Amino acid sequence: MKCIHCDEEARAVCQFCGRAVCREHLREKPFVSGFSGKMGFWNMNQNAVVVDDAVWCGSCHPQYETTS
Ligand SMILES: [Zn+2]
Ligand SMILES: [Zn+2]
Repeated sequence: MKCIHCDEEARAVCQFCGRAVCREHLREKPFVSGFSGKMGFWNMNQNAVVVDDAVWCGSCHPQYETTS
């Protein structure tokens, strides 16, 4: 698989959109991977598990806050 930015061989895949990126074009972004605890939906923000260095392609625009 090739990088979406150049023709280098991809080193990783974007966690948000699934596009492949090489090491040079790899970006990192906080990623909410899931929820911990059993406090109920009203406490989801406090219980969110965030991965700080998730692989990001740099092109897509992931949205974090979908609840109001
Ligand atoms: Zn690249
Ligand atoms: Zn992406």
